[in-house]
Amino acid sequence: MSKFKLAMIVALCAAVVVPAFTRTPQAPASSSAASAPDPKLPDSKLPDPKLVEDLVYANRILSDQGVVDAFGQVSARDDKDPNRFLLARSVAPALVTKADILEFDRNGEPIDARGRAVYLERFIHAAIYRARPDVKAIVHSHSPAVIPFGVTGTILRPIYHMSAFLGAGAPVFEIRNGAGMTNMLITDNKLGDALAKSLGGGTVVLMRGHGSVAVGDSILQVVHRAIYTEVNARLQAEAARLGPINFLTPEEAAKADAQTDSKASISRPWELWKSRIGKIE
Ligand SMILES: [Zn+2]
Repeated sequence: MSKFKLAMIVALCAAVVVPAFTRTPQAPASSSAASAPDPKLPDSKLPDPKLVEDLVYANRILSDQGVVDAFGQVSARDDKDPNRFLLARSVAPALVTKADILEFDRNGEPIDARGRAVYLERFIHAAIYRARPDVKAIVHSHSPAVIPFGVTGTILRPIYHMSAFLGAGAPVFEIRNGAGMTNMLITDNKLGDALAKSLGGGTVVLMRGHGSVAVGDSILQVVHRAIYTEVNARLQAEAARLGPINFLTPEEAAKADAQTDSKASISRPWELWKSRIGKIE
């Protein structure tokens, strides 16, 4: 690929963002509430402040742990309205603050972007929330150790108990099927729906030549899964160099998953990862 084409793709992933106010019909804001976070919602309908705080920590933790860099996103379903989800404005995850968190509708359009640019790949999140009512949080990343498994036909499978949520192995989304030659990004709902179909009822889907998506029933669980997907990929590549791998069987994976992916179990690493971040704004 020419350097120019490569630069164009990188630029698209990074910066093809649109000023949301030019795309989204804005509901009239009441003059008395113009300075509230969302002028159309009473306080009782605003997302739980703890959810917003956890989402900011999730952004910072995923960056600190090397799952996301300048790119990648983590979102959470709105606890007050299941047809909406929370996602930062277009910014590197390590820099996200509470003020950067925006709400999006089920089609991936911002409710009120307040003039901010939004992530081009928000349709990944919208499509999966539509398809999977059980999913409460989503991570999309280009975490590096996972990429080889999307392009070689070698299945990413659970090599140890901590990644038992991978079950019988992660499916791979092939964007060429149905969409032909693309820039590899999920830039609309049609592509998002195709990706959600590849994910099916699973926990992780790889995206050939691009990255991966992890889903969970909470922010804590999806962060846990995204981090251990990357760790599993590293370990699996390392083990493959030593010899044939004796993976967890699906039955072992199911039993281990009930323990390692449980609420009690994922709280401990979450507190550890959080402690590395310190206070957030
Ligand atoms: Zn991406």
